[in-house]
Amino acid sequence: MTSFSSFPMREELLSAVAALGFENPTPIQQKVIPTLLSNPRDIIGLAQTGTGKTAAYGLPILHHLDESVREIQCLILSPTRELCMQIQTELNKYGDQMRGLKIAAVYGGVSIAGQIKEVKAIPQVVVATPGRLIDLMERKVLTLEDIRYVVLDEADEMLNMGFREDIEFILKCTPPDKKTWLFSATMSNDVRNIAKRFMNQWEEFSVAAPNVTNENIDHQYYVTQHHNRFETLRRLLDFTPGIYGIIFTRTKQDAQEVSEKLMKMGYHVSPLHGDLDQKMRTKVLDRFKEKQLQCIVATDVAARGIDVNDISHVINYELPDDPEVYTHRSGRTARAGKSGICMSIVSPKQISNIRQIEKLVKQRFHKSDIPDGAEVIRKRLFFYVEQIANAQPEEDFAKIYYDTLQDEFSHLDKDLLIKKLLWLQLKETIAAYQNSDDLNAGYEGKSRGSSTGNSARLFINLGEKDGLNAQRLLQFICESTDIEPNMVEKITVRDLSSFFNVPADAADYIKEHLINKKYKNRKIRIDEADQIRSGNRQGGGNYRGGNDNSSYRGGNDNSHYRNNDRPNDRPRYSGDVRTHNKKPGGGRDNRY
Ligand code: AMP
Repeated sequence: MTSFSSFPMREELLSAVAALGFENPTPIQQKVIPTLLSNPRDIIGLAQTGTGKTAAYGLPILHHLDESVREIQCLILSPTRELCMQIQTELNKYGDQMRGLKIAAVYGGVSIAGQIKEVKAIPQVVVATPGRLIDLMERKVLTLEDIRYVVLDEADEMLNMGFREDIEFILKCTPPDKKTWLFSATMSNDVRNIAKRFMNQWEEFSVAAPNVTNENIDHQYYVTQHHNRFETLRRLLDFTPGIYGIIFTRTKQDAQEVSEKLMKMGYHVSPLHGDLDQKMRTKVLDRFKEKQLQCIVATDVAARGIDVNDISHVINYELPDDPEVYTHRSGRTARAGKSGICMSIVSPKQISNIRQIEKLVKQRFHKSDIPDGAEVIRKRLFFYVEQIANAQPEEDFAKIYYDTLQDEFSHLDKDLLIKKLLWLQLKETIAAYQNSDDLNAGYEGKSRGSSTGNSARLFINLGEKDGLNAQRLLQFICESTDIEPNMVEKITVRDLSSFFNVPADAADYIKEHLINKKYKNRKIRIDEADQIRSGNRQGGGNYRGGNDNSSYRGGNDNSHYRNNDRPNDRPRYSGDVRTHNKKPGGGRDNRY
């Protein structure tokens, strides 16, 4: 068996590896390290996480770079924030004894300011998610002109998550003579295509993959707070143009509601559940088969009737209780030898359910980041670029107007024309997404609950007279909305009404879920506290029992969005993305 000491590697690295207690190289390390040390050419390593692949490329990278030179010599692209952080930690351990070595990790979800500073200090290695790297390139704080090595880590996953165009763009910005080391668990067609386009006569190294059931399905999960589920679904749909999929809900009501909301926003979807009569269900299925619908929103029972082979995505809007049901759902994609993606939107407490399903499916699930606004905008830009590039207008299309078109556009420079076309397609997406929230659970915490952060104070027309105290009110709110108790703060229970704080981006969700409810037969009124300030602030007496709802109108029809700074009236992004961003601002709760 080969030992680390037999590798012709820098002393500092050998001693770091020994200090870490690594006795023998793992199989992938045994295969690739000798080649990468002696002849660092383009390679593909087929290995999964946990096989020691980070050291397999990390040690040779550190061996080759010159830490006395302040240039970004190596770029490592990875699909998620978590993996970026892990790689940085791991490399720092190996390079512990290399003085002057700097490894920066850049990924979304945290302030870019700190990362700009880090990158401006010119590290030798940058570990990045594609999206954040491009953000930094756009800001011109980083260039890739000195790159000697590019590592694509979990390349299949980056491609499955929709980063193909970003990766291609980044690779085009690196010097042609750099070396590319691509690591992937699978050799999918997409991976092969990237290799063919961007790599030179690569050598392949592979270690045996564990048993897999249907390796054509990529299982991804996205962790968000319960109240952000719908917004997350929208974002995933917007990030996946060209999707042809099934969105699974647990209940008929959810299927109906989610579908209606999406339809109102202009998505081509339709519900499919048992409350629709057979004729209607057949009609929906026919439209789906004819691809007039991009997705159907279905319950498990109703989806049994679907016999379609080329479904690209299954989305679990909510995980099923029974892990077996998950396999039925995910099996709707990747049929007839094709590949497919199954995305699950889960709350932090449902991660344990994912672990259960992983055991049943015998496949690792990939925790994926919910794309941020810039990523959605870029994705749609690339989508339209590709559509324009691939469009094949009929020979005589608009022929009689050629002269008019000439007059109209002849003075326009081609680049400007392209810009105008793309702008027309994208301006609504840009307006909707340019300041959008981070929906990944765990990253929104910075604003949560702090009095200076982004929290909203809500009024509810229930109080001590209804037998409530803070504890009981909290319980009622959490049970009715399925939010976590720690999201509700600063509860003040008065005689006839109460007030409490919630994260600003959860306020609409909580209102929507409580507004139609009753407590001990009394219809609930709920609104943001400052909406009722002009009324009676003394315990909310004016708000009891009355039915005129005047200050509450729009709880469900979104009309309360209309006063917002939405740039124009558009059917698709009808305000809620921006409303979520701009609504109850920081500091509002200080007034109470
Ligand atoms: P990776 O597949 O790169 O995510 O690595 C999985 C884990 O294995 C990491 O915690 C590494 O520190 C550890 N590891 C990597 N190579 C070795 C080795 N040769 N011997 C023991 N542990 C290792």
